[in-house]
Amino acid sequence: MPAQPSPSPDRAPDAQAAGPVPLTLARGRGAVAKPPRHLADLPMAGRRAAIADLGQPAFRAGQLSRHFFGRYTDRADEMSDLPRDARDALARALLPPLLTAERELVCDEGTTRKTLWRTFDGALVESVLMRYPDRATMCVSSQAGCGMACPFCATGQAGLTRNLSTAEIVAQVVAGARLLASGDVPGGPGRVSNIVFMGMGEPLANYASVLAAVRRLTDPVPDGMGISQRSVTVSTVGLVPAIARLAAEHLSVTLAVSLHAPDDELRDTLVPVNRRWKVAEVLEGAWSYAATTGRRISIEYALIRDINDQAWRANLLGSLLAGHLVYVNLIPLNPTPGSKWTASRPEAQREFVRRLEGHGVPVTVRDTRGREIDGACGQLAASVQ
Ligand code: SAH
Repeated sequence: MPAQPSPSPDRAPDAQAAGPVPLTLARGRGAVAKPPRHLADLPMAGRRAAIADLGQPAFRAGQLSRHFFGRYTDRADEMSDLPRDARDALARALLPPLLTAERELVCDEGTTRKTLWRTFDGALVESVLMRYPDRATMCVSSQAGCGMACPFCATGQAGLTRNLSTAEIVAQVVAGARLLASGDVPGGPGRVSNIVFMGMGEPLANYASVLAAVRRLTDPVPDGMGISQRSVTVSTVGLVPAIARLAAEHLSVTLAVSLHAPDDELRDTLVPVNRRWKVAEVLEGAWSYAATTGRRISIEYALIRDINDQAWRANLLGSLLAGHLVYVNLIPLNPTPGSKWTASRPEAQREFVRRLEGHGVPVTVRDTRGREIDGACGQLAASVQ
């Protein structure tokens, strides 16, 4: 595998980003398989209708939803408030198993847990639970694989398999919530407080499923899980029409933009979708998002030694961002196997931070949790595949 594959034209990023991903992005498949229908795919009205279709009273929709979204269970034998025959039929029809844990990796004394999931059709996706003293963050996948072809990203190098369904996305968070509630994560029983769409996939290329997942995660129990919208971050390569569409939903979710370079010449190679939407257009989209939602934009910037970490690029980035509702999240590159690239030297990283701060731009450097368990960026799935 070349360290820096150049994307072939048939893997060019989706030009109508807000619409469905064209099948040409899916590798070697005539048709994309559809996961079984699950309660989490449906809004409450749809659940009531589906339950009525089964010949059960519609109010069972609320009971079943409470089990899944409030108690994190899909097991009929744990639903003692439902008549036995009803619970079996309802669970079979509306709570089919979607994800099977293929591997579980733990580090940071048990507070970072990565799960490699197998979907019903054999695709692999990853999620990561990171518990901190004051919060617990679930990092979730929105697609099996990714079609955006960023050369430094393990998922990008593997290509897109398919979009995840809403329930497949939600199920990753429910699994994390169940684990935290059980008390098996050091720190005592807890809750998922934050969700980041920074696992595998480009969330805005799977717009409808991701948006419905955001609603399920943030609607109050029993409609959804009741997590605060402000604690949800959707991270994108910069699909400008989809950013505008998301802004128009008037949600309070945080938008993260994976910029990685302040100039088009370099960004065209690091984030190939930049050939379609340039740095200036992406930032314009981000500023409109901030204006509409009042939410501060997060700019993601993986620091790659001698590639994008020069002082002049820090200055250029600082001048583009200065005065806007924004902060920069610097990510030391987590090199993919065989990559010719590596993380920036500590001096370069410090200087990059200093220059951004010199422009009055707030900066954080992301901690590198989960490195030893291939915690970042699709590397576990790549190693199993
Ligand atoms: N497709 C979305 C979300 C997935 S990745 C996006 O691009 O934003 C989440 C973040 O991890 C992105 O900023 C991505 O560029 C970054 N990332 C991917 N591979 C990485 C690596 N090897 N080292 C550091 N950051 C990486």
